[in-house]
This record gives sequence, structure tokens and C-alpha cells, in this order.
Amino acid sequence: MYFTHLACTACGKEHDGKVPQNVCTACGKPLFAHYDLAAAGRTMTKAALRGRTKSLWRYREVMPVKNDADIVSLGEGFTPLLAAPRLGAKHGMKKLFIKDEAQNPTGSFKARGMTAAVSMAKQFGLQKLAVPSAGNAAGALAAYAARAGMEAYIFMPKDTPRANVIECEQMGAHVTLINGLITDCGAEVAKRKAAEGWFDVSTLKEPYRAEGKKTLGYELAEQLDWQVPDVILYPTGGGTGLIGMWKAFDELEKLGWIGAKRPRMFTVQATGCQPIVRAFQSGEKFAAEHVGAHTKASGLRVPKAIGDFIMLDALRKSGGGAIAVADEDMISSTREVGAAEGVFVAPEGAACYAALKQLLAAGTVRPDDTTILFNTSTGLKYLECYG
Ligand SMILES: *Cc1c(COP(=O)(O)O)cnc(C)c1O
Ligand SMILES: [Zn+2]
Repeated sequence: MYFTHLACTACGKEHDGKVPQNVCTACGKPLFAHYDLAAAGRTMTKAALRGRTKSLWRYREVMPVKNDADIVSLGEGFTPLLAAPRLGAKHGMKKLFIKDEAQNPTGSFKARGMTAAVSMAKQFGLQKLAVPSAGNAAGALAAYAARAGMEAYIFMPKDTPRANVIECEQMGAHVTLINGLITDCGAEVAKRKAAEGWFDVSTLKEPYRAEGKKTLGYELAEQLDWQVPDVILYPTGGGTGLIGMWKAFDELEKLGWIGAKRPRMFTVQATGCQPIVRAFQSGEKFAAEHVGAHTKASGLRVPKAIGDFIMLDALRKSGGGAIAVADEDMISSTREVGAAEGVFVAPEGAACYAALKQLLAAGTVRPDDTTILFNTSTGLKYLECYG
């Protein structure tokens, strides 16, 4: 359609989008997809969107897949933006929203990235996909690979929530549990992929998961009637969603659908694994690995992220920030959100609410800000955290 090429986020080198790619061949950093947005905007208009499918594929023109026949879908995206009036009222907030990503297939927003990555893999004729995962990316890859008739090779830390492991097995994936962190799982994939003939779909080491996740930005703008919110709180691991949304806002401005205003973007991490928070606070361009990472919020247990510099740049340019939350505060916040709004959030989603309380207390977020909390998965996948 309107996908033109890939370009490196660090050095700008162009790469061919007609063949499988991982990272930049010159500098090893992530690649971004680029589009002919002027042409895309001729058929994808605000009016045309109103009648389209209630999935992220409604933004078809800014997705990389060439032919519709290659789209591998389970009905992902266009999740509700739930008003949270009772939760907001506790803090004098009238415009607090929960973007409820638990309502995606496989119960997490990893479905967004994997529908795009697996569709592109199908376009390229790939058969064996491998991923290191903290849990939900694995479940999503297992499901989308099964849907496409491909094989999924999955590497997760051995203390990943049980629901993720069972889900992958029941989707027919090849599951290996590793005594270590997601970074160790990634090293295992990197070591074996050439000999095994696997294509690596690690987050941001594959260019299209970010394209699926960028639709979060399109949806927020559309659901707020083409306004961007004032504040976004995003539970950050690899950062694909944060980076994807930042890219989406840029595309939306080029399409002429929003102005120059950007939401203030806040990264939320766990006190036991906060590489981005530390780098943000110390003014670093890149984030050092968080040694000895631990948190119950498995999606946040990412001690080192290849897209660190893109995240840090977005946080700073947006006037946002980075904040860490203790596991106890996530767990107690789950109940507070659930009892007030009827949404059983994952610990990562609860972390956003716990962070909001800190930001309100510090005066960094004001009660009249239109504020988005991301609930990235369902508490039902994390029952062992609530025992
Ligand atoms: C993966 C994951 C995250 C982190 O998402 P990134 O875009 O990789 O930063 C947050 N919450 C949950 C539930 C996840 O599965
Ligand atoms: Zn490069």
C-alpha cells in the first residue's frame, strides 16, 4: 500500500522493506517504517474511518502489509477508552481514562505488535518465528503464529506467570524456560537462530511490532475526537508502545489530523527494575542495564532496552518524565482500581495508577489534565500476584 521503506532510528540508513529485516545493518539500532502519508491521507480520512472495522486494521493505509490476504488477525485493537469517574473523583479529576488493553486477543496489548509482525512474516513467506519474552509477547506470538500456520519458538524466564506458559503450550508453541531474565532469553535466541532457521521477532529488533503498537496513538486521538490527551502514563518494559505512540503522533500531525501539541508522556517502571527512570533522572542518552532486576510486574522486568534512546528522547521532548513504583503499591492499587471501576488490571496497569498518585502529590500532573492510564493486560493472567 503506502509503506515505502525502512530507515534507522539512529543513523538514518535506509533499508529495503520488501525483504525481512531486523536491526540496522550499519549500527545495530532499531528500524522504523516510513509511508507516503500524503497518498495515505487521500483514502484514510476522518470521515472514512467512521464506517471501518473496529480493529486496529481500520488504519490500513498506515500499516506495512502489502496485500490484505496476508493479514493475520484475531480481532485486535480499537479497545475501549473507559472513563474512570469514581477513581478520578478521589483526586478531583474529571477527565481520567483507562485505555483497557486487556480486551485484546490473548488478554494483552502484545496482540497489537504480533498481528503486524506475523502478517509481515506471512508476506515474506517465513515459517519459524522466535521470541524472548517476559510473558505476554510469548502468548501473543504463539496465538498469531498458530493462526497463520507457522511455528513459534518461545523463550521465557522460568518464573514467568503460569498463565503465559500454559497459554503458549496450548497454542502449540515450542516453549523453553530459561533460568534468567528476558535478556538471557534474547541471548539464547540470538545464539541459535541462524542454525535453526528462526526469524527473530524480539521487540524493536523486528520493525513491525512497533507499527502494530503505534495504533494506540491513532486510537487515543480518534477516541478523544482528534484531540491528544494532556498526560499519558505508560508501563514501560521494552518501550515499543511508548515509541510507537510517539511515532503515531508525528504521523497524525503530518496527516493534518492533530496539531503540534503532544501529550506529556510518562514512563512507569518498578522500583526493582527502573533503567529508564534512572537514565532519565541522570540526564543520560542511553540507559545502563538494571542489575539484579526483579518485580512481580513481569512485563516491566526488562533490565535493558534497545530502544532506550528513542524513549528517553520522547519523554524529554514531550515534557513528561519517568517514575518508579514499588510492587506493594501496584498490588494495593489493583484493588483500588477494581473496586472503583470494575476493571481487574494487571500489575503493570496498576503501576500507572500508583504513579499517578505520586505525580498528583508532586503537582507534576494537575487534576484538570486529561489523563490516560494504560491497562496493558488483565489481572487474570497474574493470579499468583494476588494470593
Ligand atoms: C510488554 C508489557 C509491557 C511493556 O510494554 P513495552 O511496550 O514493551 O514497554 C507492559 N505491560 C504488560 C502487561 C506487558 O505485557
Ligand atoms: Zn543505523
